[in-house]
Amino acid sequence: MALVTTTDVRLANLLKVYSALRVGSPMTKRQLAKEVELTFASVSSICNQLVDQGLARYEEESIFTGGRKAIAVEFVPEYAYALVLDMHHTEYIAMALVDLANTIVKTKRMSLPDSLTIEGLMDSIRSCSQSLLAECEGHLYCLSVGVSAVYNEQSKILLQASNPLLERVNLAMHLQSVFPNLPVLIENDANLAAFSQLDPFKPGHKNQLFVFFTQGIGLGIIIDGELYRGSHGFAGELGHLKLTGVDRKCSKCGNNGCMRTVVPLAAIARDLGEYEQLRQMGSLAYCDTLLSRLKDHEISERIEYTAQKIGEVLAEMFDVLNPDQIILGGNNWKLYPVMSKTIRQTCRQLSNLAREVDIQIQFVSEPINDLIFKGAGEKAFRFFTASGITGLELVEL
Ligand SMILES: [Zn+2]
Repeated sequence: MALVTTTDVRLANLLKVYSALRVGSPMTKRQLAKEVELTFASVSSICNQLVDQGLARYEEESIFTGGRKAIAVEFVPEYAYALVLDMHHTEYIAMALVDLANTIVKTKRMSLPDSLTIEGLMDSIRSCSQSLLAECEGHLYCLSVGVSAVYNEQSKILLQASNPLLERVNLAMHLQSVFPNLPVLIENDANLAAFSQLDPFKPGHKNQLFVFFTQGIGLGIIIDGELYRGSHGFAGELGHLKLTGVDRKCSKCGNNGCMRTVVPLAAIARDLGEYEQLRQMGSLAYCDTLLSRLKDHEISERIEYTAQKIGEVLAEMFDVLNPDQIILGGNNWKLYPVMSKTIRQTCRQLSNLAREVDIQIQFVSEPINDLIFKGAGEKAFRFFTASGITGLELVEL
């Protein structure tokens, strides 16, 4: 059993106040004390400490609290920034600067050349970050990365990477050579998408799933507010789940009937003979061209078929995991208005659980890069607090 020391209790209280302030800032000390259930004296002393360290500040404008004015305490989001790197796509990288309140401050995207080595990839990342950080001021506390691969935390090796260049690569080691003074965090992109929806303002959804559509299909599983990775990091690999009535051979695993052969946007484009078009114009513009041609039965039926297959898979997930909700997001988000009804209906018809509880399915209409930036920022913030807030060496920009 771990010993609980006075220092542990003090740090835990500090983190409680700091996290509450992040959600509710600006707040008076009295509001904070009520929120975190500590005495006014303890909260007051913690606030002084946070202000001394530059993590919070006293607001010049005071809050009027029924009868008298009280000085408010404000969270300082610009105390330090996380550098986040989105590597979900094989043809480009995207980077962002994210503050401690998880606001995306600045972004930069860079196309990757066709025949790339891992060293060339690191050069592109270096040059993208230099361009992003030019004229920025402040401090960095970590690099948080999203990859389309299974990340084994023990071995630090990427597996099942959608970009063959990253397969069985120790990405953290390579990134460390580009950012020698920054801690490097690596996470599967679907897991980050799930993190992006852990809204501190709506703490109700503790068990939730995020189905993430990119070039492949991933699943981020949050149980009791924590990410579930499985024993070897493979939890939530959906792409090779076998679907009924599908007999196509999967080009990756060689088996028949994998979800990735019919559900992703790339599979729709391939069936319509428009894969090159999708590659060239990108997923957003390609979805727009699909939507503009819905009167064409071949197109509307093909989208309907994808919606049915997604509904079938969601029904099984509901029955196995009984989540509060399942959230869908990714590169096909523009098609959700035409798919959502069929997805919900199919899922309700097939789920046994649907007889007992109201099944919640939410659709996120946000570009993939933003989901990964926010998820990577949230992961970085958790790392920041887990290191005791002031335990990290900051790197000046
Ligand atoms: Zn497969």
